[in-house]
Amino acid sequence: MKASVDCQAPWEWMGNLDRRLNDWSRPKRQERHRRLVVVSNRLPITMSEDGTGSLQVRPSSGGLVTALSPVLRYNGGLWVGWSGATANVYLDGHLDEASIQLGCSLEAVTLSEKEVNDYYLGFANQVLWPLFHDFPECCKFDPGYWYTYVDVNRKFAQVAARISTADDYIWVQDYHLLLLARELRGIGVRRQTGFFLHTPFPPLEIFRRLPWGRQIIKALLNYHLVGFQTHHDRDNFIGCVEKTIPGVHYENTGRLIVVNDGNHRTAVGAFPISIDFSAFETLAMSREVEERANHLREAVSNCQIILGVDRLDYSKGIPLKLRAYRAFLERFSHLRGRVTMVQIVVPSRDHIPQYRAVRAEVDDLVRQINESLGTPGWTPVHYMYGTLDRPELVALYRAAAVALVTPVKDGMNLVAKEYCAANVDNDGVLVLSEFAGAASQMRGKALTVNPHDIDGVANALYRAHGMPASERRLRMRGLRSLVRRRDIRWWSDLFLRSAEEALYMGT
Ligand code: UDP
Repeated sequence: MKASVDCQAPWEWMGNLDRRLNDWSRPKRQERHRRLVVVSNRLPITMSEDGTGSLQVRPSSGGLVTALSPVLRYNGGLWVGWSGATANVYLDGHLDEASIQLGCSLEAVTLSEKEVNDYYLGFANQVLWPLFHDFPECCKFDPGYWYTYVDVNRKFAQVAARISTADDYIWVQDYHLLLLARELRGIGVRRQTGFFLHTPFPPLEIFRRLPWGRQIIKALLNYHLVGFQTHHDRDNFIGCVEKTIPGVHYENTGRLIVVNDGNHRTAVGAFPISIDFSAFETLAMSREVEERANHLREAVSNCQIILGVDRLDYSKGIPLKLRAYRAFLERFSHLRGRVTMVQIVVPSRDHIPQYRAVRAEVDDLVRQINESLGTPGWTPVHYMYGTLDRPELVALYRAAAVALVTPVKDGMNLVAKEYCAANVDNDGVLVLSEFAGAASQMRGKALTVNPHDIDGVANALYRAHGMPASERRLRMRGLRSLVRRRDIRWWSDLFLRSAEEALYMGT
């Protein structure tokens, strides 16, 4: 049976849900509140060595931590994950310090080097990541990776079972832990569980190549709620369920689709993740950032800055973006010397050959563009391979007239949302790939492009460059209002309220 899939945006039904469901972070006094246990591959900590060689552990500052810390702090929650160290690093005292700062308990899962290699570097990053981003040719379908992935999911499940009680809600994050609910059941532990996938979910034609696809679909149906970034990802998943498990029944409640495989009912929905809007906005308005932004503009002789910020990944489409920028400069040659591209590439996964190849290609393209089109007073591309701290990044967002966000596939793309949050002058233009999850919300206000269409992206850059101030303002105000309303706290509330609703529906 084909599921009837509605395309109602989640925020359209939030009003009703608000009235009916509990607020997890502030439960009413007479209601029993459920403790939240978050399980993710990595704990929300950053480890470093100080000058004396001793280990420093600090809470990390990502959006997920911002979203979940208040809920975890309020109801005495827990976070389970790998510390990032291999088995022989002693962490206990350090974790206590980070726990106090975060306001929630941290429980480390210990992984051996082989487990890190086969589960994390192998199955997660060389099978699931490329497959879920429509790069099946980059997949290394090594059975050894799969067996270790199963074992490590069981290990996480054992830790989650040990530290949780039957009343807790276990919220599992991302593609590293697709099997966790199944493994919990396998060890005879009943818990209410939810899962959120931060990456895209691929269509059946791609997913069916995965030798362990059926096990994964069946395992996901052990969760009570499965969340995706967009309706498109959710529908891809439903398509894979239909093909993999004949005879499955669906109920469409209008906002969640309930999948019934005969043994278990699983609610499925779309929950577009977001950012801590007010943190980015406040930082962007600070004196420090304003001054840095002015310096940056002066440093490029007041050329209009076209900004790219991407982790090094084949899914980010960086070489295509550079080609489109070159086409833009070739076609609209009168703009040479009046615009410049600042491209930040954050190092990532450099043990994987495809990542090293992308880096080499990017290096080459930047060199070619600068050599062939640059002049003594003008550099077409300012390229940095490295990581900026938050104020530097936000200053760049603020200084840039155009953000060029052109992944060939992306779960959401937070850079697109951060750029808008930091654009406090309402004068920037977002050029956004239609294949970023963010396009499902930002289409219409951003200039959406097909990143494979070099001429189309070049034309969008031209349009962005010449866009009248009134149109820039109108579009950016709309984008900022969207991200302000649908921020990271909205996202976690939406998921957790839907989790509650799924439990009412008897999943
Ligand atoms: N980022 C950062 N420092 C940098 C560049 C990027 O901290 O120098 C952060 C950025 O603020 C954003 C994240 O990296 O939150 C990138 O997230 P996105 O969803 O765009 O892509 P991902 O890397 O998760 O695939």
